[in-house]
This record gives sequence, C-alpha cells and structure tokens, in this order.
Amino acid sequence: MTESITDIVTMDKIVALCKRRGFIFRSSEIYGGVASTYDYGHYGVLLKNNVKAEWWRAMLQERDDVVALDAAIIMHPRTWEASGHLAGFTDPLVDCRTCKQRFRADDLQSASCPRKPSKHPGEYAECDLTDAREFNLMFETTVGPVREAGSSVYLRPETAQGIFVNFKNVLQFSRRRPPFGIAQVGKAFRNEITPGNFVFRTREFEQMELEYFVPPDDADRWFEHWLGARRRWYTDLGIRSDHVRLREHGPDELSHYSRATSDIEYLFPIGWSELEGIANRGDYDLMRHAEFSGEKLEYVDSSTGERYVPHVIEPSAGADRSALAFLVDAYDEEEVEGERRTVLRLHPRLAPVKVAVLPLVRRDGQPELAREVYERLRTVVQAEYDEGGSIGRRYRRQDEIGTPWALTIDGQSVDDRTVTVRDRDSLAQERVAIDALAEELRRRLEAPWRTPKAQAGTSQADPTAA
Ligand code: ATP
Repeated sequence: MTESITDIVTMDKIVALCKRRGFIFRSSEIYGGVASTYDYGHYGVLLKNNVKAEWWRAMLQERDDVVALDAAIIMHPRTWEASGHLAGFTDPLVDCRTCKQRFRADDLQSASCPRKPSKHPGEYAECDLTDAREFNLMFETTVGPVREAGSSVYLRPETAQGIFVNFKNVLQFSRRRPPFGIAQVGKAFRNEITPGNFVFRTREFEQMELEYFVPPDDADRWFEHWLGARRRWYTDLGIRSDHVRLREHGPDELSHYSRATSDIEYLFPIGWSELEGIANRGDYDLMRHAEFSGEKLEYVDSSTGERYVPHVIEPSAGADRSALAFLVDAYDEEEVEGERRTVLRLHPRLAPVKVAVLPLVRRDGQPELAREVYERLRTVVQAEYDEGGSIGRRYRRQDEIGTPWALTIDGQSVDDRTVTVRDRDSLAQERVAIDALAEELRRRLEAPWRTPKAQAGTSQADPTAA
C-alpha cells in the first residue's frame, strides 16, 4: 500500500537532493563557492545529457527539415553590434548606498531589502538608492596577450547568433529550402544582476535553440506550430500538463527584434516562470547581419529565380532550466509500508540510470550472475551494479536518483535464469527471463509514459495564487 504524503516540492528539497545524490554542487565549493554558479556531478551530467538528447531527437530524428550546428562561443565582435546586444542587451541597475547591494531597477518588487527583509529596496527609511543605470549583461574579454583597441571580444550571451552568421554556409551545403531549421545546443553567458533560485538563473548556462527559416507569408502559421510542438515536448516527457502553460508577451514586453513572443512557463516552487521563449523574429537578424557584413543573406530559388529574406521562428530553451523543471515535476515523497521514501518519478528516457542490477545477497553465485546481467545490459542502456548494504537501502538509493527499474537477482535466478524487475513507481515486481531483458528494457523505454503524480493528483499548489 502506498500513500502520497507530500504534494509540495520546495526548492530547498531539490537543492538538498541534488547535493546528497551528486546531481549538482556549488561551484568551487572548497573556496566558498561562486555566486550562482554550479557544477554538475555524475547523475546531473547524465540527466542534462538526456534532456539535450531528447531535444536533439525531437529536432533531428523526428523531423527531416532541421540540421545541426555547433558554433564557437567567441564570435567576431561585430556580431554583437549587428544583433543589437552591444547597445541594447542591458538591464537597469540601481545601487543602494546604505547597504552596498545592487538590484534590478525593473524588478524591485521581487527583491528584499537586506536590512529589513520585510520591505523592498527603497521602501525602508534608511534605503538610499542611486538612479538607474543601464548595465550590459555580456561578459567581455580580450583575445591576444595585450589589451588594446580591437582586442575586445564577448562570451556569447545566446547561441542564436552563431546560427544566423552561418545561414549562408548551411544553405549552401545542406541543400535546404525554407521552411528549414538550424539547431544548436551550447553554453551561453550572461552577467545577470540578480541571479538565483539554484540553476534557474545562473551566469553560465546551456541553451537549446532552433532558428526556423520560413517564407515570410508563412511565419504566423509556423509560429503557432512551434508553440504547440514545444509545449508537447515537455508534456510528452512527463511534465504534468496543468503545470505548464503558454503566456503571450504584451506589446510593451516584446524585444526589439520580435513581432510576437510567447513563453512556455512552468509552475516552479517560485511560481510560474519562463522555461522557454518562442519568438517570431521576422527578418531582423538576417537583414542586420547582411547590413553589417556586406554578405547577401537570402534564399534564391534556382528554378524560379524568386529571392527573399526568410523570416525566423525561434524556440529558445534552457537545458539547465528544463532539467530543473523535470526534477521538480518528478520529485515525490510517500509512505511505503510504514517507511518514508523520496522518489524521482522521471520519465524513463530522462532518468540518469535506466536499470540497477542488485544481487539479493553477496553469496550463492548471486553476485557473479548479477555482474553477468549488468555487463550485458550496460551495452544497451545506462546501468548500475550495486551489491552494498541491505536491499531496501539499495532500492531507496535508486528511487532517489529516479532509476525506473531495479533487477533483483535471487536464489531462483541462479536456478532458472530469471530476475525480478521492480518498478520504481508502482513497486510491482515481475519475473523476466535474463535473455529477454534487453528487449524488454528497449520496449519499455519507447513506450508512452505518464507520470503517476498526474493520476494521483499530487499537484503543487500555485504559490502565486490568491
Ligand atoms: P529571463 O526572462 O528568465 O531572463 P530571457 O527571456 O532573457 O529569460 P531568453 O533570452 O529567451 O531568456 O533565453 C532562452 C532560454 O534560455 C530561457 O527560456 C531560459 O530557459 C534560458 N536562460 C536564459 N537566461 C538564463 C540564465 N541566466 N540561467 C539559466 N537559463 C537561462
């Protein structure tokens, strides 16, 4: 009998689990850490890799109109003049002369005064705020041994521009015609004024961006298409559908390049927040890079002679933020036969480890058979072998890292070469022949999956609701 006892996930619980199980650590912890910078440990790497692999799969394998790109992080500095980042990628910043803290002037309502946390900056009698100044979020560095005129470069604040500057190369070598897309996953850097909330907002993060080039008249239709497709990506990977929503930007929120933008938002413990932005960028980027580089960036139809500058639909997601949303959505606690367990109900394809192989006891030929099973399965999926401690403790450990299936090798296994397969969520045990395991795991990984949290209705309360 299992009973769900918790339906509220807090960021603190996620941070604690990530540390306890080696998903994510504070960066440079032995030196006291670096603010809002994190390192991914073994299971964190596997989880984030799976998120990125699922994104690539949706872009490259399940479609035939998208090609891949991996552009350099340091680009020609003119890129950022053309894109508008040098002049406009800024946040308004205010300093408090009393407490020496720095805040985003447009977001004082979500900051608290360090001297009087019940008040917002500027509201406490002793607050002494400066006027707002525009602060560029790009990290600047130099190429070459000396800092001189013309040696300044920037760590890219988004991966998108690497795609636009390669438009001509890709068009030429991939033999594509609009509609087609160029997809990229990679690091981006932003000197955020107020980072925080664990890996939700960091200064170094990974983006998963698609620039989808379309004939201008088709832009609205493709914008709608990508809104649906991208929302479905999250729910197909297990996110509860009442925890993800689309929010359209109002005219005053739109970026300088955007004709329309909608965010996919997730109900994080901090409230509804952006997971991914989907923008109709029109022809802004290709026109600007054409103007600044002198290269023609357009599509020419060789049979009709028709030429035009394609419009761009951009679904832009964060790998770290998505991984965090998947963790939050998967986190569960329940009482099982009088014992409390924490379990990550991750979609099996996202789970860092797919299968754990556990001999019941450390004798009677069980460890040898378990190792044989493990060595066979690890060629097929990410598998783990564990013989240390009681079987109950080993199950709990696998539950906490979200391993969907645990195989137990017992006395009967040695006699008839079958194992029990324990399901992480239902706790059901099923006997399967060792020779059929690889095929059975493949089948289960490909099967549609729905989180039991949705069925149980263990919804997180909306902390922003009245
Ligand atoms: P926000 O409003 O949260 O600052 P944004 O609108 O500036 O985000 P975009 O420029 O649209 O973000 O970037 C696309 C995606 O990249 C975001 O939806 C998010 O998932 C991710 N992202 C952006 N900034 C950060 C950051 N500082 N840390 C982690 N992920 C980020």
